[in-house]
Amino acid sequence: MIFIFGLDDGKVEETQTNSVQKCQRCGNVERWVAAKQVMRASLFFVPVLPVKKKYFYYCPICRDGQRISEKEYERLVNH
Ligand SMILES: [Zn+2]
Repeated sequence: MIFIFGLDDGKVEETQTNSVQKCQRCGNVERWVAAKQVMRASLFFVPVLPVKKKYFYYCPICRDGQRISEKEYERLVNH
């Protein structure tokens, strides 16, 4: 029996924050987006377990931004 394991990129959940930033890249002043990506282990291409989370914070216009920690994400989203 052959098992096929993989890593699924999962979905990216975007939340518009109340935090207004001026983007260094496009120059727009906007409410930036905080995003959470949950990567999941998959078995036979069916996602089974959440394994890794990544958090981002970026400009909604050009999507230039940075990776942030879970703590920063929580702070941006719950406020
Ligand atoms: Zn931008």
